[in-house]
Amino acid sequence: MIEQIPPNYLYGIALLAIALILITVYLLVSRKKSRISSSDSSDYIKALNALIEGNKDEAIRLFYNSVRQNTENIDAYIRLGDIFRQQGKVEKAIKVHRELLVRRNLSQHSRNQIRRSLVTDYVSSKAYDKALDTLKELFANDPKDFWAKRQQLYVHEAQQDWENAFKTLKTLSKLEGNKVVHKQLALYKVEVAQLHFKNSREKDGRIVLREAMKIDADCPPAYIYLGDSYVREERYSDASKVWVEFLSRIPGKSHLVIDRLQEVLYATGTYSEIERILDELSEKSPDNVDVSLTLSDIRARKGDLSGAIRLCEAILESNPDSQLARLKLIRLYSQNGKPEKALGMALELTDKSTTVEKKFLCSNCQYESSSPLWHCPQCGAWNSFDL
Ligand SMILES: [Zn+2]
Repeated sequence: MIEQIPPNYLYGIALLAIALILITVYLLVSRKKSRISSSDSSDYIKALNALIEGNKDEAIRLFYNSVRQNTENIDAYIRLGDIFRQQGKVEKAIKVHRELLVRRNLSQHSRNQIRRSLVTDYVSSKAYDKALDTLKELFANDPKDFWAKRQQLYVHEAQQDWENAFKTLKTLSKLEGNKVVHKQLALYKVEVAQLHFKNSREKDGRIVLREAMKIDADCPPAYIYLGDSYVREERYSDASKVWVEFLSRIPGKSHLVIDRLQEVLYATGTYSEIERILDELSEKSPDNVDVSLTLSDIRARKGDLSGAIRLCEAILESNPDSQLARLKLIRLYSQNGKPEKALGMALELTDKSTTVEKKFLCSNCQYESSSPLWHCPQCGAWNSFDL
């Protein structure tokens, strides 16, 4: 019977036996090893879970266990450093991350992970120059690293280095194909101009503001501060020209310049010009309360009380909540020999007893400002104020 078994069948049995022996040997040998690496990886996984649960001290303990068993667990080291940073021990975090970078045999991926953590360490300890150095290393590896570009932008902003913030945002927007950054670019120019003005370089500041207007023709602070600069040099007609341009270009924001414009024109006694411009504007957008109120003031100053009253009454027709129009009307009625009307309106107003105060809130952090702002001094957000 034995002779009937085909020889290649025997051959198959032998192969199977060898395979079985090999598998058994492998299992025996790898058991010790796998016991270690499985407890390393289980501590590592437990540590990650502790992190998710927000238990940082427990995570530190478990990450330490994990790296003690396997010093090659780079990610555990990176995370240890990150936790130190989050706990405010930034120096310790920097030490852990820098020591990691010294290692040889790091994969490019790990090396970049460590650099990212190091950048975040430096940023949170305000060591901006070191952060920029580390970012350079990331760019050497990948010039189009989005994350690094965004960090670079953040650092330049934090350093108030607006020229470099400008350049960085420009490249970032090209990389991301994001074309709606011109408003932000213009605001960087506005910041540059403010620095010039702070150092009494009025002309330099104005040149930069003109650049801002070229980038974004609807950049309110560029017009406002350009006019302010002219006023500081007593060039009132230049100031009013800029603000009048603002009014016709950005009528929806006219309340931001109209007080300034009025002051300049009253100071120089040249408000027939502005009256003409405002009349035009008012025809174009009759619902613009700021324009109508200013016109009403001008009429009243010229002695045209009934003209002034008509304008305020028209405002109340379309905007019954305009307290300013009401207040002006009370004064105008009493000046124009209608004290009963003035009294009636005054009583109405006290019934509502609302105080209107101009306040601007940052939509990001609720910072409150009495003057309009485009860059929040508290949280650093841009264009976050409802103006
Ligand atoms: Zn804010």
